[in-house]
Amino acid sequence: MAACSKPSRAVKELKAVLAEQKRNEIMTLKIISCDCVGGKPFSAASVVTQEMLSTFQDFPTEKSCTLSFEDVWDVRKLRALVEMNSDKDEKEDQDKDFPKKKRKLNRPNEEIEAFGNLEKYVFDLDYHINCMKKVLKSSKDSRRMSGTEVVKVLNVHLFNPLSGGKCLIDTHITKEDSCVCSCGCGIQMEKGPTGIGVESCWHGFVDMIVRGNQPVQVLQSTDPQEEVKMAVEVNKDEHLFDFISSQSSGYSQVIAETITNSFAQVNKHPSLSGLPIPAFGCTPGQILVFAYDSHNDMLLKKMVDMKLFHEDVSAATIVMLWLYINFTSFMKRDITDTVRKPYLSEFKAEFCSSRSVVSCYKKAACGIVGFHHASNWPKLNFYSSANMTYIQE
Ligand SMILES: [Zn+2]
Repeated sequence: MAACSKPSRAVKELKAVLAEQKRNEIMTLKIISCDCVGGKPFSAASVVTQEMLSTFQDFPTEKSCTLSFEDVWDVRKLRALVEMNSDKDEKEDQDKDFPKKKRKLNRPNEEIEAFGNLEKYVFDLDYHINCMKKVLKSSKDSRRMSGTEVVKVLNVHLFNPLSGGKCLIDTHITKEDSCVCSCGCGIQMEKGPTGIGVESCWHGFVDMIVRGNQPVQVLQSTDPQEEVKMAVEVNKDEHLFDFISSQSSGYSQVIAETITNSFAQVNKHPSLSGLPIPAFGCTPGQILVFAYDSHNDMLLKKMVDMKLFHEDVSAATIVMLWLYINFTSFMKRDITDTVRKPYLSEFKAEFCSSRSVVSCYKKAACGIVGFHHASNWPKLNFYSSANMTYIQE
């Protein structure tokens, strides 16, 4: 890998993304039903959203709210980063969109470090894309590809370098002590405890954890949403709902991980409360992004899925992924604040509809090494009605 000399490619790509700040970035999802309590592992979770049901003719139309790029991301901060890094390149000084007099050169170290990771990655983009293609495009039938091989190559050539070396893979992924990339480059990766949740609720081990707070799940299906659309076209006479549920299991899994992780992270780091915490679902060609803010009960889904191997969009995908990975630095604090934005209240996920659900998820943790089995002895508190007060009308 070559060292980074000129930053212009990362600056150019970030500028291109910023030029489209009015476009729709994310939409709200409402949960119609789910099995969030009962001890299901993530892989068996079932979540039905209003978006999935919108394919039924007789399902009442539910509204969804869209947020634009500038609603989600702190454009002012990002522009400042572009301006600061344009200074390194003489040509950029002439740029009319970023006049020199407006430049604020002092940015927090966290942002500078994050931008450095993007610069380095974009500089080596072709190398990383080729390494990923070797594994992800090796088989004509991508469904037969080994999930472990995919996790490894995505760790070494995407999530780990883009997060500045802060991506751990699940310790259960391989029995060998040293874990080496599946593309043949020989690079080793770091394993760690990726367990999230609590036994009585959704729980399990995710494939990777980025920066200690964002789960990554590799999905075998090419595109869960496309398959749902196809199911509607092809299987009109079958039990459509069963079909949709079975085909969209990957979708359910990532949503369950997103929600559980969000509670677990806030339980551990209260400063993250009020921010939608992202989670990623990786299919062989693209990356799905969901995010959940447990304080405001807002579930979000990135509207345009990020394509990895499309000629023109790879670099834009990388910039977007980099933003989500660094959400604590670049996401606006009030993105899902239902007090400051009362209109968002009607778009809540309605996940926390019962007090029991909330109290269970208040116990969710992250970085778990192993989960315990359920006890054979139910613990219930019985109250005899003989001791209760009876009010006569
Ligand atoms: Zn490799």
